[in-house]
Order: sequence, then C-alpha cells, then structure tokens
Amino acid sequence: MKKVLIANRGEIALRIIRAAKELGLKTVVAHSTADERSLPVLLADEAICIGPPPSGQSYLNIPNLLSAAIVTGADAIHPGYGFLAENATFAEMCREHGIAFIGPTPENMRALGDKATARKVAREAGVPTVPGTDELTGVEEAKGAAQEIGYPVILKASAGGGGRGMRVVHTEEELERAIQQAQEEARAAFGNPAVYLEKYIEEPKHIEIQVLGDGEEVIHLWERDCSIQRRHQKLLEEAPSVLPYETRKAIAEAAARLARHVGYVSAGTLEFLVDKEGNFYFIEMNTRIQVEHPITEMITGVDLVQAQFRIAQGERLWLRQEDIEVRGHAIEARINAEDPERGFRPAIGKVETLLFPGGPGIRVDSHLYAGYQIPPHYDSLIAKVIAWAPSREEAIRRMERALAETVIEGPGLKTTIPFHQKVLQNAFFRRGAVYTNFVARRMEL
Ligand code: ADP
Repeated sequence: MKKVLIANRGEIALRIIRAAKELGLKTVVAHSTADERSLPVLLADEAICIGPPPSGQSYLNIPNLLSAAIVTGADAIHPGYGFLAENATFAEMCREHGIAFIGPTPENMRALGDKATARKVAREAGVPTVPGTDELTGVEEAKGAAQEIGYPVILKASAGGGGRGMRVVHTEEELERAIQQAQEEARAAFGNPAVYLEKYIEEPKHIEIQVLGDGEEVIHLWERDCSIQRRHQKLLEEAPSVLPYETRKAIAEAAARLARHVGYVSAGTLEFLVDKEGNFYFIEMNTRIQVEHPITEMITGVDLVQAQFRIAQGERLWLRQEDIEVRGHAIEARINAEDPERGFRPAIGKVETLLFPGGPGIRVDSHLYAGYQIPPHYDSLIAKVIAWAPSREEAIRRMERALAETVIEGPGLKTTIPFHQKVLQNAFFRRGAVYTNFVARRMEL
C-alpha cells in the first residue's frame, strides 16, 4: 500500500490523513465543490473533486470515487464514518478494482450491518440481545410479540442508523399506526421499509466495546459509555464506564466472541444496553471507525486508524488481549455548530476567531481554521475536544478547563459548548448516574 484515497470530509478526513502520513503513505482527498477550501484538502498530498455539494452526487457517488482512486493511482480507500463506510457493495467494488478497502470485508458487513440480521448472528454466538422479534411480517405478529414482551416496546428500522428510524410504543392501540409510520419513515430514509420490535429498556446505559480483528483473532479495547445522548444522538462520551469490573469484562468478552464468530476484520464497535441490574443486551454493531474512537486511543495508547491500515495490509494482530491496559479516564465532547438554546438548530457561519485548548491531557480533532466558512450541506460536527486524566474526577475538571479556553466565533455561529459545560457540572453526571434518558430528564434545555 502506497497511496490512500480518503472518501470522506471534515475532522475524520483529517484524522485519516494524520494516521496515513505517520505510516509513510501518500494521501489523496476526494472532495465535493463545497469542500474545495477545507483543511483536509489543504493538508493532503493531493486532492480530487468528485462532484457537487449534495452528498448523493459526491461523497456517496461510487463511480466517481472509484474513478478518482484509479486516476490518482491510489491503491487503498479509507471511507471514514458515515457516507459509504458501511456499504458492502462499495467495499466489494473496491475489491473488484484491486483497491484495498480500509475496513471490514463485505461479508462482515453483510453479517452485521443490518440490525435485524446482526441480532440473529449475536444469538448464534451466544450473546444476549434485547427480547424482541425478527423483521416483522404483519401487525398481528407484532401485537402477539409485544404482548409477550410487555410494553413499552421500541420499533426499529432494520437498515436504521444515526439514531433515526426508532419509535417507542406504549400501548397496543398505538402499535398498528406506529408500524405503518415506522415503515414509511424507514423506506424514505434508508430505502428499506423493514422494521422489527424490541423491548424498550428503561434507563439503560449505552455501553459499546471497541474491537480489532484480523479475520482470525479478535481483541477488545474495553468500553465507552455513550449514554449522554439527545434524540438517540451521542453528544459526550467517556471511557472507561463507571460499571463494576466484572460487568465490563463480561460485556467486552461477549463482544469479542461475537466479532470472532464472524471472522471480523479491522476496527469495529459493538453496542450494548445495560440495565440497572447489570444485565446487558447487544443492540448493533458499527462496522467502521467511530466518531468517539479517540477516547479509547487515549486510555489504551493504541492508534485505531493506524491499526485499520496495518490490518488492511494483511498484517496479523500484533497485540494480544493481555497487552491492552486501561490507563486513566478520557472524555470527548462533540462540538456541533448548533444552538443548544434553540433546540439544537444548526447555527453555521464563518469562523472568524478560533482558539483551541491545549495543555496536559488535551487533544482536539477538528478541521476548522480561522477564516473557514462552514458549508451548510453536511453534518454539524465541527470539533471534538478530548480530555485525558488519571481519574474521572480529574478528567471532568480538565474538560471544564479546556472548554473554558475554547473560542469558536463568527457571525451566526453557535456551538454546543455551553451544553457540555452544563452536563459537566450536573451532580448526577458527576457521580456517574448517566443513562440514555439523562439529557431529557436531568437537563433543562
Ligand atoms: P442507531 O444505529 O440509529 O444509532 P441504535 O440501535 O444504536 O440506533 O440505538 C441508539 C440509541 O437508541 C441507544 O443508544 C438507546 O439510547 C436507544 N435505544 C435503542 N434500542 C433501545 C431499546 N431496546 N430500549 C431503550 N432504548 C433503546
């Protein structure tokens, strides 16, 4: 592998460039016309335009991306997260063109990419899933199942992702209409109307396990707690969680077992819900690098993006489970260009003044620079501030210190920093009493 094409944008494109450069690889950024003046384009060795701003015509345009790789002589493609990262057809087409796809195999993605299928695979591997159904075939089946499981239940799109396509149902009367709506939404958003039903777990923690596999061996890099969410979207994550060691170990081992069961290749994340009694249930696997990967890097010292490259080059896992040691505590705050005082509505603009935090234990992953005009076409994530410290207490204080230093200003521009500051000060958060309903219940927004 000599040259990698980055089929993504924003902070993750930059993260991949950094990993590739340190490995001595040449980098090409594929970008839309809206991202012509973006930092990844400025910092990569080469850049190539793949289409107009709408992602359907650029970042999701498979023929254009493959042509871009061929024209620039790239022998690998890194998809980042979102866009085509979990698209098995894209991974397959890369393979057919002799281009290494930096990620799992198409077979891995097919076994795990679809949520309903992943549940079946988990059960085969002896990993507990939330009580529920396979893809629903009719309303009567759903009624019967919901009766058995007990309300409330949650309807989920098989092809869903990004916190969308979910609907909580409290009574049988609501069920029929909810299924119709969920199917319509799923068809519109994901092109696949299939939905299934699960028990709605009250006040769970969202715990996810990072794994690395080489097709034979799989190791885990412990967990991240991503319970601080708004409308099922993660906002602030921490690693490790405050769960007891025995629970953490049991979840991590179950995750590694499931990944091993499918011969998983590359970095992946298995998501679980954990109830108040410490019971854990697999909900889905993300077959890609995730936004919140840096906190795992901070506590384990493993560069996950470089690991993806090394595995894609056919290297066998160079780390054994016993080599993975958790050191200290890390927190990530996702800074979005949104106004938390106005329902998190997008608030983009030109960045006029920019000052990122620094000092001990602070890492910032961001594609912003002073003078940068944030384009309106994409995700609102503009920076990730990550704080590491020996203990959770100290990591919280360090994050508060870092956010107080941060300045991201420009006309019309608002960020989620004030929201994070409130979370960090919250007494429930301070003592680790975080569940997925934390934001709805404990934050006055
Ligand atoms: P997505 O792929 O869209 O991110 P997930 O299946 O990972 O969807 O679920 C996202 C979030 O939705 C979870 O972190 C949790 O907050 C909530 N959720 C999902 N399934 C359940 C469930 N069965 N009970 C309660 N909450 C759930």
